Amino acid sequence: MKITIAENVGFCFGVKKALEQVEKLNKPAYVLGKLIHNPQVIGGLEKEGIKSIENTDSVEEGSTIIIPAHGVPDNTINNLAKQGFKIVDCTCSLVKKVHEITKEEEKQGYTIIILGDKEHSEVKGINGNLKNSVIISGVDGVNKLDKEKRYCLVSQTTQDEGKFNEVAEELKKSVKELKVYNTICVPTKHRQSGSVELAKESELMLVVGGKMSANTKRLTKRCSEFVKTYHIESEKELEAGWFKDKNKIGITAGASTPDYIIKKVVEKIENEF
Ligand code: SF4
Repeated sequence: MKITIAENVGFCFGVKKALEQVEKLNKPAYVLGKLIHNPQVIGGLEKEGIKSIENTDSVEEGSTIIIPAHGVPDNTINNLAKQGFKIVDCTCSLVKKVHEITKEEEKQGYTIIILGDKEHSEVKGINGNLKNSVIISGVDGVNKLDKEKRYCLVSQTTQDEGKFNEVAEELKKSVKELKVYNTICVPTKHRQSGSVELAKESELMLVVGGKMSANTKRLTKRCSEFVKTYHIESEKELEAGWFKDKNKIGITAGASTPDYIIKKVVEKIENEF
């Protein structure tokens, strides 16, 4: 059985930087939400005294509050500062760039269209800075727009690029004025294309990463278009039956999946199946 790992798997630079930043902090410290979307990493951080919180109600004044890699609205940071918390901002620079673009284009009179998942923290963070915006999850959302307005399209950084291009094309045909910023981050683009190429030549694909991770779920969807694909968080979920009569196994992983988990998956397949 041949096991191939896709190019560009494992932590993206935004996740690496966030982890480096929190490592240096005095503990305990508190993350507003999840630093990254991987339960094994979050569990490890909790043990070290980096706790995930939903709000600061029970956090002592003066404590350190960490802003996660996918950001929050500006007013959340301003309010925390006013309440006397020390803030460590781990927002990825590429997410910050989307904040800057959207705020500026809104000032110029554009209605911002965010292609993304309205429940995802990154989308909430971008949208939370805006008064004149709409979130759509795909090309269907275009039909509901007032075609006479001036629009600016951006994307959640981990969206599927094919879907983004499809939405941009549909908008170009139907709205009066449109500006397009493809804000899907470069690590996501590379990961998606590397995974799809591997899926095309594999008999089975495994996507390793958090079940809540948007980019991991999207990789699973893309790879499933070409070959039977399973999304797993760890080697514990592997089943012998998946590998029956399969000789070419492809493995990819999300931006927040640590290398050691990928390694354990490979070892278990090699040793047990
Ligand atoms: S997935 Fe992209 S935007 Fe998100 S943290 Fe990584 S590099 Fe930054």
